[in-house]
Amino acid sequence: MPKYSLVIPVYNEERIIPALYQRVSAVMDRLDDTAELILINDGSSDRTLELLRELHDQDDRVVYLSFARNFGHQIAITAGLNYVRGKVIIVLDGDLQDPPELIPDLLVLWQQGYHVVYAQRTKRLRESWFKRLCAYAFYRILKQLANVDMPTDTGDFCLMDRQIVDLLNQMPERNRYLRGLRAWVGFKQIAFKFDRDSRFAGEVKYTFAKSFGLAINGLVSFSIIPLRLSTYLGLLSALAAIFMAILVLYWRIFIPHSTLTGFATIAIAIFFLGAVQLISIGILGEYIGRIYEEVKNRPLYTISEVGRKSVES
Ligand code: UDP
Ligand code: MG
Repeated sequence: MPKYSLVIPVYNEERIIPALYQRVSAVMDRLDDTAELILINDGSSDRTLELLRELHDQDDRVVYLSFARNFGHQIAITAGLNYVRGKVIIVLDGDLQDPPELIPDLLVLWQQGYHVVYAQRTKRLRESWFKRLCAYAFYRILKQLANVDMPTDTGDFCLMDRQIVDLLNQMPERNRYLRGLRAWVGFKQIAFKFDRDSRFAGEVKYTFAKSFGLAINGLVSFSIIPLRLSTYLGLLSALAAIFMAILVLYWRIFIPHSTLTGFATIAIAIFFLGAVQLISIGILGEYIGRIYEEVKNRPLYTISEVGRKSVES
């Protein structure tokens, strides 16, 4: 059994895989014990899978899983975690934005008794201002709303003890916001600050829609405050209505000749209330949709191919 397991999801990363393998295997060579590298092909349409097969043939430490279609980054990591055999598990992105050379530093903290060492980005200068702004705002909103202590600016790059991974593997939920689940578990966790590199090559695979979906997932999975939002909005509208009713009565009684025309006011009120109701229904929908996903209880992923040499000892 290897002591260290590295989990890396890859999706259409043919241009990166050779460099990725080179840098990661160099780090693995320098570790004090045996290691395995688990690469998850998330339904790539380029030569990613062929490259993974080649790596597996060359190097016994390389394990690969291939999804039958694209299931997304979080699910790919989940599958990797289901297959790990090591005592210590390290999750990295496949685009070399998370430098593998930092692994020994993370391991030092593990040896000091931490169960989770999560990498916290201090700078992400090489990403667009829009993405940085969105990420900045999102992590802070989530921290306010979430029912667990959610560290800001941390992604999936982390080291986890076997105990943590076993707990994550027991969690049956389909909407997996892994960095949240990782925080939810508890135990001794510590941040490790690092500067995030830019993508080594190729395009970003997380489109705006995917990132937005992940953000909503994080919010909905870890907070019910959005559901309360409609209650508050409703109360606020009710207060406004009562105030207006009193005003109208006052005018009717004390200012007999007031012309209470106000077509525009009525139109605005109707639109406002319509908006409040639709947003509330939308928020409800986010939760109900997720309940539906959970209830269907489909498997999280389908695997078409696994490459793992069994190490019998
Ligand atoms: N990825 C994946 N499935 C997807 C999208 C992305 O496995 O549907 C992988 C991708 O290959 C990369 C990692 O997830 O290794 C992070 O993706 P990317 O760098 O595009 O996103 P970022 O988080 O850097 O914006
Ligand atoms: Mg990236």
